[in-house]
Amino acid sequence: MSTAHTTGPAGTHHVLILGAGYAGLAAATQLAARTRKADVRVTLVNAHERFTERLRLHLTATGQRVAELDIPTLLANTGAHFVRGWVTAVDAQTRTVRVDDSRVLRYDTLVYGLGSVTDTTVVPGVEEHAYTLDGPSDATTLADRLARLDGGTVVVVGGGLTGVESAAEIAERHPELDVVLVGRQDPGARMTARARSHLRTALTRLGVQVISGTAVTKVLPDGVELAGARTMAADVVLWTAGTRVSPLAAAAGLTVDDRGRVVTDATLRSVSHPDVYAIGDAAAIRQGYGVLHGTCQSGMPTGVHAAVSIARALRGRQPRQFRFGYYHTPVSLGRNDAVVQFTRPDDSPRRGCLTGRPAVWYKETVSASPWPTYRRMTTLPSSGVFWPRGGRLTRRRDDAR
Ligand SMILES: Cc1cc2nc3c(=O)[nH]c(=O)nc-3n(C[C@H](O)[C@H](O)[C@H](O)COP(=O)(O)OP(=O)(O)OC[C@H]3O[C@@H](n4cnc5c(N)ncnc54)[C@H](O)[C@@H]3O)c2cc1C
Repeated sequence: MSTAHTTGPAGTHHVLILGAGYAGLAAATQLAARTRKADVRVTLVNAHERFTERLRLHLTATGQRVAELDIPTLLANTGAHFVRGWVTAVDAQTRTVRVDDSRVLRYDTLVYGLGSVTDTTVVPGVEEHAYTLDGPSDATTLADRLARLDGGTVVVVGGGLTGVESAAEIAERHPELDVVLVGRQDPGARMTARARSHLRTALTRLGVQVISGTAVTKVLPDGVELAGARTMAADVVLWTAGTRVSPLAAAAGLTVDDRGRVVTDATLRSVSHPDVYAIGDAAAIRQGYGVLHGTCQSGMPTGVHAAVSIARALRGRQPRQFRFGYYHTPVSLGRNDAVVQFTRPDDSPRRGCLTGRPAVWYKETVSASPWPTYRRMTTLPSSGVFWPRGGRLTRRRDDAR
């Protein structure tokens, strides 16, 4: 039997943050620091104690070590409480969340940041036969498989940035393998001709065969089926095409978009449940140029903004409008090469890009920055509020606040 937990004295305001990804951890560290002296209890729920650096999963997948980042250690002495467990239901009427089916946590304000995972449901066979890069255990399983291969073919499906980074990393670490990158879109399709050409040259140098403009229609035990019923043999298939979000928000009756993401107002509150904020990949957040697509660069600001808004609301002040403009697309091409496409706020490419060693340094700096940022925010929350607001391109006409 489960009981609802509202640890802390009566009258305490309970903020429950679901998901300790890039966005949820930003919300937790920021909010804990801003409410230290207030009668507020901040609780962060996550499946694992270890922070998953999704930006580095392709390193884990090729047997490279990444840092062990322990969330409870980060939160020690911040006042925020960590609960390890799997969220199985959200009840927006009773304001409760069920964890591991057996435990019930109450909230006054909920921050929904459960992120996204690879969509393995769209094409038959993906679930059964393909590898994915959703967490360290997926990545380690792939690394073990690659290490056991003496030769053979690895097909990476998805011409987006995760596919490109993974294909390049596998080809560099495993020159004995043939790596094929298959996708609907051309790798680097949204980059300028110069950046795209650098990316393509790097893939060729690493021996990656690129097949673009082609859909994979089925994953088989020993290969893939391409549109037109052509098959390609593969010893390993890595699926990186498309993401999906948890069904929990829709099941709770929150208004969601056609992809199941929580639709927010301009301040990041759910349009149907204003006591729920939604952040990161799990949220459908509209800016003047359209709905944000999931990235770490936008996810962290959404977490910080939700925390600042909650702290303001607790002081009786109105939350402010969230505004964000993209500024870069950094892509690693193995350990010795990279390309960084600088972008306009709406994510369209600017003329400028970095390639080679400066781009490697830039990409590494970006990938390494979240954890020190969280640590800094635990004592100096104002250090986390700087990001490009995007000027007129991000202004929403419907929320003029
Ligand atoms: C291989 C790869 C490379 C990427 N590279 C880049 C890049 O270079 N730059 C970039 O900007 N973006 C990149 N992305 C995208 C970026 O990682 C995501 O946009 C970002 O992780 C979103 O942050 P989030 O906090 O919303 O979600 P996540 O980081 O996905 O975190 C969600 C958290 O919630 C937890 N969770 C989920 N469901 C439950 C549940 N039911 N119960 C308990 N816990 C749960 C998860 O375990 C996770 O800890 C990459 C993604 C991948 C997969």
